[in-house]
Amino acid sequence: MHLTILGCGTILQQGTSANCSGYLLDHNLLFDCGPGIWKALYQHKISIGHLNNIFLTHFHVDHTSDLGPLLLNRLLYSNLKEIPLNIIGPPGLREWFSNLKTLLGRWSEDLAINLNEIRNEPYQTADHNITCKYTGHTDNSICYRVEKDGKSFFYSGDTGYSDNVIALATDCQLAVLEASNSDKTHTKEHLTPHLAGKIAARAGVQKLVLTHMYPEVLEGNPAKEASSAFTGEIILAQEGMAIDF
Ligand SMILES: [Zn+2]
Ligand SMILES: [Zn+2]
Repeated sequence: MHLTILGCGTILQQGTSANCSGYLLDHNLLFDCGPGIWKALYQHKISIGHLNNIFLTHFHVDHTSDLGPLLLNRLLYSNLKEIPLNIIGPPGLREWFSNLKTLLGRWSEDLAINLNEIRNEPYQTADHNITCKYTGHTDNSICYRVEKDGKSFFYSGDTGYSDNVIALATDCQLAVLEASNSDKTHTKEHLTPHLAGKIAARAGVQKLVLTHMYPEVLEGNPAKEASSAFTGEIILAQEGMAIDF
């Protein structure tokens, strides 16, 4: 499998990535689509024609705001207008998307879009098997596990410390876990690097990618903090980073 980190920052204009959440798996599955991801797709020469499945973890603006520009571009490509785009997300997706269309205007009615609300149900693409679980970050936030040819990828979205996350990430090759909070700023809706390491250890993942780190986390030593709980390889997410696994 191949992961491209299109964006890994926060909503603050500080830190290592100006782009917010966006992770491209195997060149055609996009997980979250926050501010900056539309431009990142252009910079990485990713044709939106290849993106036929977009997965949202929850509806906070740092994970969703660039979906509108992506849809408009898709509409203006006449050869894409009729090709169904699958948007997958947690319960509430239909209501959220209806509100988005109100903002975008009437043209958005012309797109061929399949909305798929999932919480525990598996979802399949032509090549990938996807499962999800509730994370506890919001009332409906979910995390995703993707499997293909015996390899597995996990993406937490935003999450608190959660047995669901541990269960879904179990034995995967690569786990991308948020580490928004420092020990001083920790809230139950997010992880610290240490807690991300603890989840990775309990789940038995091979490689841990720490992402979505706020400035106070980056001022510390997140890799060292995670390594106090997890002895496997730890990678600090960077915008534009590519990882094969
Ligand atoms: Zn959030
Ligand atoms: Zn977030």
